[in-house]
Amino acid sequence: MMYKNIRNIDKIVYGTGSFNQLDDILKPIRTDNKNYFIFLVDDYFEDKKLSEKLPAKTADLVYFIDASHEEPKTDQVDQLRDEILGGKGLPSGIVGIGGGSVMDIAKALSLMVTNKGSSTLYQGLNLIRKPGVYSCGVPTISGTGAECSTTAVLTGPEKKLGLKCEWTPFNQLVLDPELTLTVPKNQWFYTGMDCYIHCIESESGRLYNDFSKAYGDQAITLCRQVFLGKNSGLNIKNSEKLMVASLFGGLSLSYSEVGICHALSYGLSYVFGTRHGIANCITFNQLADYYPQGVKEFKQMVEKHHIDIPLNLAKDWSAEQVTKMAEIAYALSHMWDHAIGKNWKEKVSLDMIKELYYRM
Ligand code: NAD
Ligand code: ZN
Repeated sequence: MMYKNIRNIDKIVYGTGSFNQLDDILKPIRTDNKNYFIFLVDDYFEDKKLSEKLPAKTADLVYFIDASHEEPKTDQVDQLRDEILGGKGLPSGIVGIGGGSVMDIAKALSLMVTNKGSSTLYQGLNLIRKPGVYSCGVPTISGTGAECSTTAVLTGPEKKLGLKCEWTPFNQLVLDPELTLTVPKNQWFYTGMDCYIHCIESESGRLYNDFSKAYGDQAITLCRQVFLGKNSGLNIKNSEKLMVASLFGGLSLSYSEVGICHALSYGLSYVFGTRHGIANCITFNQLADYYPQGVKEFKQMVEKHHIDIPLNLAKDWSAEQVTKMAEIAYALSHMWDHAIGKNWKEKVSLDMIKELYYRM
């Protein structure tokens, strides 16, 4: 038996207002390479207070990233990399301030400034050849676990798959719950549910162990307080909780795996560009046969917060689209293997997956 040897984040600062420490945190790194930093910032913040507080120096480059339409793309990362290396050269480090989208672009960019060729070459496990430059993640919305995961998920011309290797995780995290207070309610719920679903899928499969359970149980407890508790909703106390839940949900997955919901959700995102959080909610809503307790509790959370989960989508889908989604989902063998077992191919067929899509 070979056990996974997990690379974790080097340093974490957590607490309301901790964003103010970012300048001090970056200072010692500024002597690396060409002595400047790249800041990738979700463009929601372009005209907000956070931009004024950004510790960017004159030599630094700030890019505002639109994360509201599409998920991160391989050519988007390649283009940024070419522009940066063709300009000022190798940066001291990359800071990603935003949700899973911006954090994944930051993680990918940190690797791609030191690895030649297109990022499509590196979509998969351990394909990256050299460590990247220093990277720092500052989440502004909680749930994906992208802040601690060993993958930077990109959609390329052929697949949606992460750059997954031991150098992918951030060197530094700044977890300031205050930054998440402006997230719109639906988005808060969809991305928050990503965390809840990670924990349910993590615990419902063969890779689950006590390491995954310790983090997963705590993340679920926090999710219950945030989404079902007496003071549930979007407030600073709950932002503090959900930020830790997101991190712990991600850590729970480091020894476990996601399952059927994520496999189907990837298909949906690939074919229709549906964003990860809402795609998970659309999918999980129909998976009571596989995750009965989890789906029941999910529905209570939906009801409590009057969230709109799209239904009756399949009637507008063509047979080709459903087949394509099923093929994408089926190809995610590590998820089925975790959820169903090593002999999953005896139990899961394209037709069975299609039937699940037709429920949506
Ligand atoms: P996101 O980054 O896609 O952002 C969603 C929306 O929220 C955007 O419109 C953004 O502008 C807005 N937003 C973010 N912070 C805000 C704030 N504080 N105030 C107001 N608006 C704000 O959201 P996400 O759900 O965190 O990330 C989804 C992405 O993460 C997907 O691309 C998915 O593939 C990826 N993902 C990665 C991992 C991983 O392990 N690397 C895990 C899960 C998901
Ligand atoms: Zn997820």
